Amino acid sequence: MENSSKITLTELLHRFDIDSEKILKVATVYPFRISAYYAGLIKAPFDPIWRQSVPSPEELYDTVQLADPLDEVRLSPVPGLIHRYPDRAVLLVSNYCATYCRFCMRKRQVGCPMGKTDLSAALDYIASTPELHDIILSGGDPLMLDDEQLHNILSALRKIPHLDIIRIGSRMPVTDPSRITLKLCKMLAEHHPIYLNTHFNHPMELTTEAEKVCCMLSDHGITLGNQTVLLKGVNDNSKTLHQLFAGLLRFRVRPYYLHQMDLVRGTAHFRTPLEKGRELIGGLRGKISGMAIPHFVVDLPGGKGKVPILPDTLHRGGNDWLIKTYSGELVKYKDPA
Ligand SMILES: *Cc1c(COP(=O)(O)O)cnc(C)c1O
Ligand code: SF4
Repeated sequence: MENSSKITLTELLHRFDIDSEKILKVATVYPFRISAYYAGLIKAPFDPIWRQSVPSPEELYDTVQLADPLDEVRLSPVPGLIHRYPDRAVLLVSNYCATYCRFCMRKRQVGCPMGKTDLSAALDYIASTPELHDIILSGGDPLMLDDEQLHNILSALRKIPHLDIIRIGSRMPVTDPSRITLKLCKMLAEHHPIYLNTHFNHPMELTTEAEKVCCMLSDHGITLGNQTVLLKGVNDNSKTLHQLFAGLLRFRVRPYYLHQMDLVRGTAHFRTPLEKGRELIGGLRGKISGMAIPHFVVDLPGGKGKVPILPDTLHRGGNDWLIKTYSGELVKYKDPA
């Protein structure tokens, strides 16, 4: 996006009076990019916005995890298309983002030029696979493409009669809301049903700018969901998640998934124990609107898929069930004979 302004890492470190060769070195391995808008949300070094976007030397300590633990490359019948589930597939349309998240699951490829991708081969595959009903545009961030490029892709997809819904995965409402223009919304609305899943991770991201563009997307009939990644030192406590999820509902965005961090190389310092997410989600039940509670999911290595990790509520008690309530009480429940 030629019109979206960004600032350099040196400028950012200078702004906060931080001099770190180590941080600059990380950016030579895993690319750095931040929009001027997102940088403006940083209040202090190492706050939740900083942690998400500024390189940490810890990224280089992690050498045991895999670059592609979800086996996305193996699950690609043609380059740029990940077909793991029978009825839906992910189409990678851009390797660029307005801001590179340090915990990105596609850390191996964001910020690098797209390899030899052949969009027409991917479109041919989708057209000749009638089981596919749901295509998810991802990357990178699909909204790094300009309106015309996006319109062309959406038009080509809409020519495929067996496709029902198109989803767009984009962090633009969070990292560069100015990309969400009235013109973009109108164009997207020509291709309904369109769903957009965005990616808010912290209440500091719930700005008036973000609210405005979420409402504009909703006003154009685009159904909004949110996928949060559970991140150590950023949002791994119940107060933060409560504020985030309640705030999202006010923005007309429905929390969809809370993701356990993938086992991606360079991201180990963000990972919480699996039990933590289950505890946090279980703790929200009863305290906040059910609409605000996403599924806590873990994407299993080897491309085995996403599995929800649910609170442990169902127990056997002789011939009856014992069900644990949100307040921890065990209540007897009998299935009718
Ligand atoms: C997450 C994902 C999907 C979509 O899964 P839903 O549970 O339907 O949101 C589809 N394909 C791949 C490869 C995925 O990683
Ligand atoms: S916006 Fe999404 S694809 Fe881009 S760096 Fe962040 S998590 Fe990765």
